[in-house]
Amino acid sequence: MPLSFQPSPNIARLKESATLAVAAKARALKAQGIPVIDLGAGEPDFDTPAFIRRAAAAAVEAGATRYTNTEGILPLREAIAADANRIEGQSVPVTPAEVVVSNGSKQSLYNACVCCFGPGDEVLIPTPAWTSYFEMVDLARAVAVPVVGDPANSLKVTAAMLAAAATPRTRGLMLNSPSNPTGAVYSREELASILTLAADRGWWVIADEIYRRIAYEGGALSALEIAPTRDNLIVINGVAKAYAMTGWRIGWSIAPPAVSKAMTAFQGHTTSNAAAVSQHAALAALVEREQADAAVSHMVQSFRQRRDAVLAALAPFPSVRHVHPQGAFYLYVNVEGFRGAHDPGAAFAAAVLDEHQVAIVPGNAFGTPGWIRASYATTESIAVEGLTRVARCLTA
Ligand code: GLU
Repeated sequence: MPLSFQPSPNIARLKESATLAVAAKARALKAQGIPVIDLGAGEPDFDTPAFIRRAAAAAVEAGATRYTNTEGILPLREAIAADANRIEGQSVPVTPAEVVVSNGSKQSLYNACVCCFGPGDEVLIPTPAWTSYFEMVDLARAVAVPVVGDPANSLKVTAAMLAAAATPRTRGLMLNSPSNPTGAVYSREELASILTLAADRGWWVIADEIYRRIAYEGGALSALEIAPTRDNLIVINGVAKAYAMTGWRIGWSIAPPAVSKAMTAFQGHTTSNAAAVSQHAALAALVEREQADAAVSHMVQSFRQRRDAVLAALAPFPSVRHVHPQGAFYLYVNVEGFRGAHDPGAAFAAAVLDEHQVAIVPGNAFGTPGWIRASYATTESIAVEGLTRVARCLTA
């Protein structure tokens, strides 16, 4: 008799990733010949810079085809530490012993959740937040506690809001600046008060800084340069977004040595090392600084132009409220009240795809059903046309 599949309690509440599902749906519609404007995917549309591709090809020829240490090759961990140490304001330099390389920042985030949180622990999630944080905390059998940010302050949270949501079971929080899905960037003061609260309370801070280099108004700060201590701090980053390297799957964590050791042990039993060739590609991205900086500034400049263009396209629709994006490549648009729907973001996402062929992600994926996320990591004319259709659909 065939065994009927009953999901184990580990995944009983697991939902499919909405960001990946929207991207897959848009690809499927395009394959059917439907000209969908895809503003769903949070993925740079640039090719990985040529010098990185060449370094990867050379590494394969030179034999980078075998297992590496679980935590990653030493030259890459040294380069990650050196890169972190270029951030000003750190009193104690980051060492390679604090760095664990993984199969993308998503894996580092998950490993950190599994290693630091467990049954009964509560984890504060400034919301809206990237969809996978909620699931990762849940998979760690901890409780995700959404703390919804202030719409008058770009949906950001304050230390006071986090303190108000805390209980004796609070064990940590997820920080993300620039934010996916809003593009909001936390100021030095905002970050300092949150990091000080977390240090005082003994909470883990998992700071996801994957969009840090994609910032348009004075840059985005790292928790590394502000935190009063690194004892409770796990900084996550990777090459996917800044260097247009999504498919290479290289991320990393910078964490206290004991945490790094635990994350390495966990990874050693689940996935082992990240792909050797991808580690060499990431190494080139970090050490060939002149070429890398030129490539990153070119891409950030393009994202900025697109951001300005989509904001200009929305200017004739003053009733369309959105968070002012200072970084990343997302626009978070308020759709509350849309056709009186119970879940306005989902209703709007369905309507704008059916009626205007634009794919966007409903805000319920990020913990705020009254909003939708549009990615402008696509050519300027497509982004402008897509957002114009969004505004028309919303104001029709
Ligand atoms: N982080 C991107 C997004 O939010 C990529 C998709 C994913 O892994 O969620 O769209």
